[in-house]
Amino acid sequence: MIDNKYTGSIDFAILYSLFDTLTPLTIDCGTVCGGACCRNLVACAEERSSGMLLFPGEEAFREGVFPDCADTVVPAGVDRLYLCGGACRREQRPLACRIFPLFPALGQNGRIRAVYDPRAWRVCPLVKGRRYIPLERNFVRTVRKAGRMVSRTHEDRAFLARQTAEIEEFNRFLRLDRDRPPICRKAVRGVPGTLEKCKF
Ligand code: SF4
Ligand code: SF4
Repeated sequence: MIDNKYTGSIDFAILYSLFDTLTPLTIDCGTVCGGACCRNLVACAEERSSGMLLFPGEEAFREGVFPDCADTVVPAGVDRLYLCGGACRREQRPLACRIFPLFPALGQNGRIRAVYDPRAWRVCPLVKGRRYIPLERNFVRTVRKAGRMVSRTHEDRAFLARQTAEIEEFNRFLRLDRDRPPICRKAVRGVPGTLEKCKF
């Protein structure tokens, strides 16, 4: 049971628990790609800019509830980047790992949408194969729900806005935003093997 007294304005204990059993697919996608998103980033000094971003307040939460977890956290602009050794105790993985390869983007209208994170494109086959591999509906919805929970304070909305701006910058080239959103079940009429855009 994760103690919640360190969470500050965001309830990370609840956020973490949302993804205790929820994953992008019903099967373990790591068996297909060999767990490509879990690499030893601490050992790769040249990849110091890679890692999993911690949400505002998450570092303090982790220090409180996982005192035995030797986290390596480095600055990333005004944010904090978590570097792991490529293995972890499942219950201790950060929120960014739990929602990967999606991100709760904050739109200019203030709405949160779960979108494919183009920063995951390089490593994650679920992003590269997004036209053919629909993600679990509950997983996508829960990423959006987590984003809504995270967006309750000015600091947290600023974080989401920063990350959304970076995602939009990547999408100038990758154009993941032009494809279907993560939840989509229906085949495009007349085009076998494709999926049409769905609202959620
Ligand atoms: S890289 Fe993508 S497919 Fe592979 S384990 Fe990570 S989330 Fe799953
Ligand atoms: S913290 Fe765990 S889940 Fe996240 S990248 Fe590292 S090994 Fe993978």
